[in-house]
Amino acid sequence: MRFSALKILTEGLTGNRGWGAHWRDPEPAEEYDIIIIGGGGHGLSTAYYLAKEYGLKKIAVLEKGHIGSGNIGRNTTIIRANYFLPGNSEFYSHSLKLWEGLETDLNYNVMHSQRGQIGLFHSDGQRDAAIRRANSVRNQGDDAELLSVDQLRKMLPYLDYDQGRFPIYGGLLQRRAGTARHDAVAWGYARGADQRGVDLIQNCEVIGIDVRGGVVQGVQTSRGAIRAKKVGIVVAGRSSQVAAMAGMRLPIESHVLQAFVTEGLKPCINHVISFGMGHFYISQSDKGGLVFGGDLDMYASYAARGNLPMVEHVAEAGMTLMPMIGKARMLRSWGGIMDMTPDGSPIIDKTHIEGLYLNAGWCYGGFKAVPASGNCFAHLMATDTAHASAQGFRLDRFRTGRGLMDEEGTGAQHNLH
Ligand SMILES: Cc1cc2nc3c(=O)[nH]c(=O)nc-3n(C[C@H](O)[C@H](O)[C@H](O)COP(=O)(O)OP(=O)(O)OC[C@H]3O[C@@H](n4cnc5c(N)ncnc54)[C@H](O)[C@@H]3O)c2cc1C
Repeated sequence: MRFSALKILTEGLTGNRGWGAHWRDPEPAEEYDIIIIGGGGHGLSTAYYLAKEYGLKKIAVLEKGHIGSGNIGRNTTIIRANYFLPGNSEFYSHSLKLWEGLETDLNYNVMHSQRGQIGLFHSDGQRDAAIRRANSVRNQGDDAELLSVDQLRKMLPYLDYDQGRFPIYGGLLQRRAGTARHDAVAWGYARGADQRGVDLIQNCEVIGIDVRGGVVQGVQTSRGAIRAKKVGIVVAGRSSQVAAMAGMRLPIESHVLQAFVTEGLKPCINHVISFGMGHFYISQSDKGGLVFGGDLDMYASYAARGNLPMVEHVAEAGMTLMPMIGKARMLRSWGGIMDMTPDGSPIIDKTHIEGLYLNAGWCYGGFKAVPASGNCFAHLMATDTAHASAQGFRLDRFRTGRGLMDEEGTGAQHNLH
């Protein structure tokens, strides 16, 4: 089944009886060439590119819940390619290019909207950092523009520009940045993988990883044992738990991140906006809700729900930046489990166990990475060599100190990833 304007018209005129299921519901086979553990955005995109670009056939994605039940369906959907650090910047640049062709590639409307992202700055020092970031982003071939306060006042008239503590000095705009409908991304990749023969097996929890003589043999699941030549761990917030099944201890902590949405309003916020001095960022969904978030709850947890002090903290930051938000009623809040690495950058690498691969450490920024992560992880699993855009995401950087140690004062470039 292909989506097209003609198909929509025909179905509309004939009672919408010709739409099929987006993917099959197969029973697990006894053996696969490749098993992907985790049916989130990264697992599904990995399976899709393995089948599409490398022509591999016997692939299964094992998901303990249903497709889209993890962070892929819980995030605030911001997509951008304005990372500063070499290693990260080329990877996110690769990802944004894949986003730009994704709907055509998947034949699926993921509601990709390049509405632009604006990072505000509030001091001379922050302006210098923004200029430096803009230069680096432009050098790698992506777009970045500095906006003056006068330009911002015209574009975002509802911000509080002159308040005493954090006056707005300007903003850094990336026009190609924006948002997409998160669960449509999961559904689009799932459908594309299924069409290429990948078995998507839902309600199938991996409870053990079989290793013999240093070589992976397969997995134990809630639906029985499944043999496999290669296994990829792609379980985001559950990475440490699943890796522990193969005796590995990862440099990852799982933390809660919350998000919030208001009642539906008429269109009023046309961009993604990030406050430079507080934990607050916002965009407006196509249904009209203001979607916003802040920082981690800051304690390790596997509970996908948050605490009230962080709700208050984010609401305060929102009121500081745009007092008009106080008139909107908040409808819902929710949480997701973030796989945080010490340097804020991800891992796409082989492990010391032959045939066992790891894709993890996406922190709070893995939605924008979904296309490139799957693309690069598929490359690694199919060819056993790192993709050119993901050379720095090595697991051993935390042991050797080489690579991307850049956040929280652990390396030379503090907080610039
Ligand atoms: C509130 C919030 C806001 C965010 N905002 C943004 C944003 O604006 N932009 C951005 O780029 N990123 C954002 N993120 C981060 C982004 O959502 C994640 O980094 C990304 O979705 C993680 O990858 P994933 O989609 O594969 O994860 P998931 O969807 O969590 O996929 C992992 C899957 O593995 C499955 N699984 C776990 N254990 C097992 C097991 N034992 N057996 C089988 N299956 C298993 C889980 O059920 C899950 O479905 C946000 C996250 C949250 C929570």
